[in-house]
Amino acid sequence: MKNSICFLTVLLFLFSACSKKINTPLQTERIPTEPEGMKQAESLDVLLQEQARQLSKNIIITDGHIDLPYRLKIQNFKLTKEFIGIPIETDKGDFDHKRAKEGGLDAPFMSIYIPASKQVDGTAKLVADTLIDMVTGIIDAHPKHFGYGRSVSEVKANFKKGLVSLPMGMENGAPVMDDLDNVNYFHKRGIRYITLTHSKVNQICDSSYDTIRTWNGLSPFGEKVVERMNEVGIMVDISHVSDSTFYQVMKLSKVPCIASHSSVRKFVPGFERNMSDDMLKILGEKDGVIQINFGSTFLDGDLQKEREAYHSEIRDWLKENHKLSPFDEGAKEHIDAYQKEHPKKFYSDVEKVVDHIDHVVKIAGVDHVGFGSDYDGVGDTLPTGLKDVASYPNLIYVLLRRGYSTEDIEKMCYKNVFRVWKAAEDYAKNFNQGG
Ligand SMILES: [Zn+2]
Repeated sequence: MKNSICFLTVLLFLFSACSKKINTPLQTERIPTEPEGMKQAESLDVLLQEQARQLSKNIIITDGHIDLPYRLKIQNFKLTKEFIGIPIETDKGDFDHKRAKEGGLDAPFMSIYIPASKQVDGTAKLVADTLIDMVTGIIDAHPKHFGYGRSVSEVKANFKKGLVSLPMGMENGAPVMDDLDNVNYFHKRGIRYITLTHSKVNQICDSSYDTIRTWNGLSPFGEKVVERMNEVGIMVDISHVSDSTFYQVMKLSKVPCIASHSSVRKFVPGFERNMSDDMLKILGEKDGVIQINFGSTFLDGDLQKEREAYHSEIRDWLKENHKLSPFDEGAKEHIDAYQKEHPKKFYSDVEKVVDHIDHVVKIAGVDHVGFGSDYDGVGDTLPTGLKDVASYPNLIYVLLRRGYSTEDIEKMCYKNVFRVWKAAEDYAKNFNQGG
């Protein structure tokens, strides 16, 4: 396989040498007619697409955040005959084994997502356990397709066997409850990162989506949670947290951190859920990684505004014509009808995802960026060219076209995240050996 990449590289080199020659004013050769030039550009494109496809197969691709478990929970998934094949192949959602293989995805972090409502009704830990059981159940039921993703070395070994690893990250620290030993418990259960909170403030820290700032960053208990995460080898995920939480975590954590599914604030001004340039710089200085979220509203501030305007148009129409608000019973039917009659979609595209990657590279460097699609988590907002897990070659193609080297792309696909993951493993190992 490596040979075919070499061959492609040589061909690409010849092509670029050829086009340079054509552009030289002193050339003696015949100047090609326009259709010929276009043909060459098309062939170069085909070659780059093939190179991207090969790369996606030959290198490990990890993704920081895929919401398969929660999607399956909503579908009432159970490991019974009726459902057992769904993780392998389905016409629903953004992830299944077949499409993961097609896209070259080898280690998608399964999100163990705990909605904020579960913080208040006391069931957070129970929900986390149920979702973890689902993921481990899927792996056990399909040993020829999936493998456990409990360490960097396990994921690498699975890759060699052609298995898709399913490492797990917990989205919301609520299941830790008020007991630090639950951090150890979830590590034993296979959790390898914890997103400190989700859409609301919890017992650990403030959230970017919440207007209430109870702690002004981390709570005193949250500080202990971060320390314990370092000690057991769970990566700290700063996606979803408020800015002050981020800065406090950067000071406190002994190990580099990840943002498992965030994008860049520059393109969506004022959106605290994304990272500012200053935060990117600090994350990079601390050797961390931001994994870019593909959701269109994370990518493009104008799209986000247009979408909000469309939603308020629907709200007004609903109120005027049906005396309903969007969450009232029977409202959905009318909303669907309105959307059918006045269809509007707000999709960004794969180029914009690469704009975000370019920006991180400019601010923090190529060692600090990866992919955190949020597949199965952002609904019908995925950008053109990145509609499901079969799409990674499209992303790699655009990266190649923008001049990134194979080495750069390897870093984005897995090396950067594996570096942070390994640092977390090593710190915990030393700590527990009294080092
Ligand atoms: Zn999220």
